[in-house]
Amino acid sequence: MGRTSVVEARKPESIGQRALVQGWVRTRRDSKAGFSFLEVNDGSCMSNLQIIADGSLPNYESEVKRLTAGCSVSAYGEIKSSGGQGQATELLAERLQVHGWADPETYPLQKKRHSFEKLREWAHLRPRTNTFGAVARVRNCVCRSIHQFFQQRGFLYVHTPIITASDCEGAGEMFRVTTLNLEDLPRKDGRIDHTLDFFDRPSYLTVSGQLEAEIFATALGNVYTFGPTFRAENSNTSRHLAEFWMIEPEMAFYELTDNMDLAEQFLKQVCRDVREQCDEDIQFFHDRIDNTVLPTLDAILEHDFVRLPYNEAIEILERSGQTFEFPVSWGSDLQSEHERFLTEQQFRRPVILHDYPRTIKPFYMRVNDDGRTVRAMDVLVPKVGEIIGGSQREERLDVLEARMLEQQLRPEDYWWYLDLRRFGTVPHAGFGLGLERVLQFITGMANIRDVIPFPRTPGNAEF
Ligand code: ATP
Ligand code: MN
Repeated sequence: MGRTSVVEARKPESIGQRALVQGWVRTRRDSKAGFSFLEVNDGSCMSNLQIIADGSLPNYESEVKRLTAGCSVSAYGEIKSSGGQGQATELLAERLQVHGWADPETYPLQKKRHSFEKLREWAHLRPRTNTFGAVARVRNCVCRSIHQFFQQRGFLYVHTPIITASDCEGAGEMFRVTTLNLEDLPRKDGRIDHTLDFFDRPSYLTVSGQLEAEIFATALGNVYTFGPTFRAENSNTSRHLAEFWMIEPEMAFYELTDNMDLAEQFLKQVCRDVREQCDEDIQFFHDRIDNTVLPTLDAILEHDFVRLPYNEAIEILERSGQTFEFPVSWGSDLQSEHERFLTEQQFRRPVILHDYPRTIKPFYMRVNDDGRTVRAMDVLVPKVGEIIGGSQREERLDVLEARMLEQQLRPEDYWWYLDLRRFGTVPHAGFGLGLERVLQFITGMANIRDVIPFPRTPGNAEF
């Protein structure tokens, strides 16, 4: 007989059916009348299913009465209507099989609540907690919504490489990929001889799929990548991971305003889907983690995002009367305290900041006629700050080459990227959305390490 999930078994429509429910015991309570209540969870939803194990079961004394949190069981019986609070149904077990015991002396997830820091040490067990089960379900929902959003609009999903020889950001925060013997590096003229390495040249884990996505956009129109991204930034913050997932759409014939429109529709659609499909989990985050979760989601859906030129943002911050740790002035990059001031105090909704100084943005962003700014856009949201970074790309060959030189990049290393401007160049634009930042925003989880199954941060890669 096939397994019935707890989410199915909890529906009133299931009353009267026979079902096999399988999962992990959360609690056991014995009644004086000679039977036990088991709360069983199988991850299909946050709620447990109550199972009534009667004293007449053949293994009642020998097994059922020894069940504790974490034990795995199969229960077969009829789904009945339940008089208990918060549940329409329960299962009256006719057979109850124990698959695995969990010694209460050593099983870490007992009734006591553990801090999220502590749970990170048990990355192999934390999915069994309410919070991490909910994170996993919401994460899945967001990913489905992302694919649906682009697929419904005819975007092609393209896979860009994870190993690359180009540094998209020119920032140098990359992990090296090598098969050279690190104990005995081959040298030539005193320097490491990269021609003997696997790829004949220095290579890295990608920091972005954008440059390769541009190749496909300038052939196929609208595309997106969605994959793991790596940054060796040694920043121990609550918003940075060394390995994270990024969604990067790239659209031919798009200008900056088209890009902003798409980013706004996209974030709204993801929020709407989560709101509709993860009701129970979102309610949990609102009640237990951060009581601004529901109003924040609703505000996203109800209001247009603010669109604010960088120039004006600087003026607002300078006039704000706030004392910031990092002072602002035209030409400086915004810090998260500034981003949060704009989204949480000034506007109380997402803000798309655009047209940044050219000196603080990468070479591939299109230079404006003023010569001082580029067609960049960052989407900032309350609580998290930057969630999306994007731009209209520089499609003019001569300007692009000049920008590379300005940033000490060698145009010959990017010959293929420049070819896209040499042959049939078009205006185009795109952006990158950090999946984990969206999840932080939606769930209210304060630390990015708690919205990815196995966080990679400086010093942490055990699980
Ligand atoms: P930040 O200033 O926050 O470090 P960034 O300017 O380096 O971000 P981009 O290079 O524009 O970010 O990357 C696009 C998006 O990828 C960001 O808006 C963010 O959502 C996400 N992102 C960037 N770096 C990280 C990271 N280390 N961990 C998780 N997400 C990240
Ligand atoms: Mn960064």
